Amino acid sequence: VPAIELDNVVKEYTSHGEVVRAVKGVSLTITEGEFFSLLGPSGCGKTTSMRMIAGFEDPTGGVVRLHGEDVTGVPPNRRDVNMVFQSYALFPHMNVWDNIAFGLKRKKVADAEIRRRVGETLEVVDLLGREKRRPKEMSGGQQQRVALARALVNRPRALLLDEPLGALDLKLRQHMQIELKRIQREVGITFVYVTHDQGEALTMSDRIAVMNDGLVEQLADPREIYERPATKFVAGFIGTSNLLGGTVQEVAGDTAVLALGAGDRVVIPRGGTVAAGDAVDLTVRPEKITISREQPAGDVSVVRGTVSEVVYLGTYNSYMVVLADGAEITVFEQNAHDSSTTAERGDTVWLSWQPRHSFV
Ligand code: ADP
Ligand code: MG
Repeated sequence: VPAIELDNVVKEYTSHGEVVRAVKGVSLTITEGEFFSLLGPSGCGKTTSMRMIAGFEDPTGGVVRLHGEDVTGVPPNRRDVNMVFQSYALFPHMNVWDNIAFGLKRKKVADAEIRRRVGETLEVVDLLGREKRRPKEMSGGQQQRVALARALVNRPRALLLDEPLGALDLKLRQHMQIELKRIQREVGITFVYVTHDQGEALTMSDRIAVMNDGLVEQLADPREIYERPATKFVAGFIGTSNLLGGTVQEVAGDTAVLALGAGDRVVIPRGGTVAAGDAVDLTVRPEKITISREQPAGDVSVVRGTVSEVVYLGTYNSYMVVLADGAEITVFEQNAHDSSTTAERGDTVWLSWQPRHSFV
């Protein structure tokens, strides 16, 4: 049985007499024990989807199932999930131990059991020895761990985390990403993680649902999302992408020939759906492109252009190359061997890539 299922879930709000469709029909299945992320720009419906899983909102349409059971009408405290908020929501006047034990005390769990579970949880979140501190005596990262511990101590079957690292600075956020992943592996429960940060989602998730404007545009593992974005939106939202407009000239087997705006002809994987005459967008990631001063040979896709910008970025160089039709292509070049650049501003260059590294 899947841990969580959304079956064509819709959520409409009425605000000042106007209907806002926050979620427009989302279907997805989250497996038990999975680290699952909802990723998308601000306002795309991530929090609303999460709140319907937690039970803070009722769907306008569709069904939410938790561990196979339709939870329509089941209040949040009777669902086997816990939510962790970005704002931590800790009790400022209570120390760490009491913050974590609070829920168990309210549920009248026996003292010995509370001691055992709070102790265990402190260990998991790496806060042993800090139990007497007040929230304001702790760093943001530590407060976030307390908030996490307070949810974990209830031993929910799934934990819902809504942008939990949003308030932390970059270094700490990256550290906590690794920590969260470790904790999830250690406790083995389902994590549903909401973020607008693509790097965060790629780092931690087993699978990612990329949302845009109330809908899921792609649901796949991080590699697939990055290497094979299903839509133009996903390609643009995840990482840096180059978009090249062109027209399909001919189709042969599983490849097709594309005429680009600047006149170059490149071979592309057919991708099942294209036919001669179709206008399409070709996407190639900057790190898949090789830049050279001489025309490359072999079975590669090649376009010609002029370097308009070179930026030295330490581990790699970034080039901006302008094609004859004005299209701008970003190329990343690893600084593996020496720090010299292949081309300078104003140089004519050839850009090449393996056809399988481009997608339509
Ligand atoms: P995200 O978490 O992805 O940033 P939300 O789920 O918070 O997005 O919001 C999705 C859309 O629904 C937004 O346009 C937001 O303004 C709207 N919305 C969210 N909550 C309410 C509400 N209580 N009343 C009216 N509109 C809302
Ligand atoms: Mg949100």
